Amino acid sequence: MYQTKTMEKLEMMECPQCGNPMPVKRRELGYHVCVNCSTVSAKRGVPVMRGTGDHTWVDLEVMTQEQFERYEEMENKTKSEIRPNKQNKDNLQGPFTIVETDN
Ligand SMILES: [Zn+2]
Repeated sequence: MYQTKTMEKLEMMECPQCGNPMPVKRRELGYHVCVNCSTVSAKRGVPVMRGTGDHTWVDLEVMTQEQFERYEEMENKTKSEIRPNKQNKDNLQGPFTIVETDN
């Protein structure tokens, strides 16, 4: 049987990055920032299609969690809009069909 009394004993310190309280234990485990900050700075790899016509390849874009969320937001937005030539010039261009796969 477990007893979860540890909450009271948990020693807190200020996160050096955002100033929010974080458990000292966390630093002992090798983390220097709170959960929040370490999530934000976590890197995400996102496959991105590049090139035109027959010449396309998938690239792995490495971005922070923050960038990733912005990227996803953008992706969701552009799915419901007709996309003008935006972003990279060497990205997808010309007539193409967006296939909705939501169903
Ligand atoms: Zn923090």
